[in-house]
Amino acid sequence: MKRVLLLHTGGTLGMAAPPAPPTGGSAPRGLAPDRFARALVAQVPELTRLAEIDTRILCNLDSSDVGPEEWSALALEVAAARERADGVVIVHGTDTMAYTASALSFALEGLDRPVVLTGSQRPLGEVRTDARHNLVDAVDLATRDIPEVGICFDGALLRGNRATKGDAWSYAAFASPGCPPLARLGIDVEVAPHVRRPPLVPTVPFRCRPEFDPRVAIVHVLPGMAPASFEALLDHPRTAPRGIVLCAFGVGNVPTRARPLAPAVRRAVDGGVTVLVVSQAWAGAVDLTLYENGAALADAGALPGGDLRVEAAAVKLMHALAIFPDDPAGRADYLSANVAGERGDGLRHLRD
Ligand code: ASP
Repeated sequence: MKRVLLLHTGGTLGMAAPPAPPTGGSAPRGLAPDRFARALVAQVPELTRLAEIDTRILCNLDSSDVGPEEWSALALEVAAARERADGVVIVHGTDTMAYTASALSFALEGLDRPVVLTGSQRPLGEVRTDARHNLVDAVDLATRDIPEVGICFDGALLRGNRATKGDAWSYAAFASPGCPPLARLGIDVEVAPHVRRPPLVPTVPFRCRPEFDPRVAIVHVLPGMAPASFEALLDHPRTAPRGIVLCAFGVGNVPTRARPLAPAVRRAVDGGVTVLVVSQAWAGAVDLTLYENGAALADAGALPGGDLRVEAAAVKLMHALAIFPDDPAGRADYLSANVAGERGDGLRHLRD
């Protein structure tokens, strides 16, 4: 039987509503992390029919509180588990699951086994929960030959660094625009041919690089936006970023006439800030050669982010800043490479 390490980090799956207050007490404050997480496998005993499960509680947080420190701890945990587990399942809140999945995909170079993140929209303890189904699917996938970091939700496995939380209401919480699911779980489990597999003789031996520089900001370009608001970020004495993800219009366009943004971007780049351009569009890729309004960004030294999702772009930039702290050219090469399937190169022929 395959061995699966189940790492718990928190999220709705293991949450519970707080007890009703005593008469006269203040009203309950909503779902919060609960001790229920400790008994996870006991709640879903059928998991042990799929794999030998070893459970570990790494933390028990709403994923809004998960960040670079937890990503590093998780990456190290997964790296250490390679001795004793054929696959890893990570129980995680949905809100920032795409960021954590991206972080692990960049930190775990040459990954040779599945790392499957899952969670749920309703807690495991509720009757109409989606947690049971997602957990069972995730453990099943973790026993298979899918050496990627994926998000398993509502009967599909998505590439983690292409995923985005697209729906805060439905059980199908995640989408991966431009990247069809790596697996679909219906009556059968169908694994797609575009799963990335290391060659038989690995060219990149496994290595864990769990460093992230959190000094990254995301700027969403707005029609009529004042360039001074972008510059204000650069001028802040304590929180000036070292990297900026610029979410531009369409294929990477920004205003150039009444309030041109490119001079402010130039100032950032000249000051050593890496500016990575992604699109506000749901699908498609940044091309800074197509319009004057995008070429202005390229001329200012900004880097095109292809079809990187904003979550993957921000995390990859944090990783690039950490692993190439004093090497802007190395950082730029790393950002334009397809490191872990985060860029859609080669997937254009596939349909969602
Ligand atoms: N706030 C929760 C979290 O991300 C939402 C969820 O798990 O679905 O931890």
